[in-house]
Amino acid sequence: MDIDLHCHSNMSDGALSPAEVVQRAAQRGVDVLALTDHDVLAGLHEARDAAREAGIRFIEGVEISVTWRGKTIHVVGLGIGAGLTELGTALEEVRAGRLTRAKEMAQDLEKAGVGGALEGALRHANNPVMVGRTHFARFLVEAGVVEDVKGAFRSYLVPGKPGYVPYDWAKLADAVGWIVQAGGQAVLAHPGRYGLSGGALEELVLQFKQAGGEGVEVVTGSHSPDQYALFGAVAHTHELAASRGSDFHGPGEGGEFGSLPPLDSRLRPIWQRWNL
Ligand code: AMP
Ligand code: MN
Ligand code: MN
Ligand code: MN
Repeated sequence: MDIDLHCHSNMSDGALSPAEVVQRAAQRGVDVLALTDHDVLAGLHEARDAAREAGIRFIEGVEISVTWRGKTIHVVGLGIGAGLTELGTALEEVRAGRLTRAKEMAQDLEKAGVGGALEGALRHANNPVMVGRTHFARFLVEAGVVEDVKGAFRSYLVPGKPGYVPYDWAKLADAVGWIVQAGGQAVLAHPGRYGLSGGALEELVLQFKQAGGEGVEVVTGSHSPDQYALFGAVAHTHELAASRGSDFHGPGEGGEFGSLPPLDSRLRPIWQRWNL
């Protein structure tokens, strides 16, 4: 069974509509899919309907932006269907400053010689309240400033480069708490992306677990095979469940459906007690 518990639609920074995301996943052999848009639940209804149509299982999900020790960390929530209203209200505040931040990002890019970035990014943002770095990256590609989205995140939009504006997202314990209150399970997303030393990673995992976190994303689009092993070991050591998800954003933008290996069979999958 292909279980993919991490992807994005154009309600956040994905390139496809929720229904298109589901159809693509189904065509590529996914049997169980969670849509996990950043800080927004707006795509879940459409995706659920499309999944019924396509004959695959659907899990309501979200990916919450968190600031932990000055770094941006992502927490995926799975199975949040029971408390969507309360969670939705909490997320409104998390995403509230995105437009202001986008204006500051555009000003910073302007100083670096790249004009028109705010309008450009907003053209790529189907849901303007969710405008973010991926939309700026797509604009930078379109404007010929960089070759691809990866290149945009190498030379721009990251700490120390033009277009990066720090932002105070949710607190770790709050994000995990909202997910648990919504009846969901919290998963620490792509831990290989944070550039944390062994000690800091250990503390992050401990605090995450303390707050009620249940799983670690082990197999995901941005991890290398070495990282599957490393974060599998982290999950095992801390008695956390393991999760798996492509982090699909759009065709040709990295993580893709139907292309990931299965979880190591020695790990306890986050879906173990789901009625699949
Ligand atoms: P934001 O929430 O606006 O800060 O944007 C974060 C998003 O940028 C992530 O969810 C990814 O989709 C994207 N992103 C961040 N770093 C990279 C990277 N190195 N390569 C590709 N996409 C990235
Ligand atoms: Mn994203
Ligand atoms: Mn993420
Ligand atoms: Mn993601």
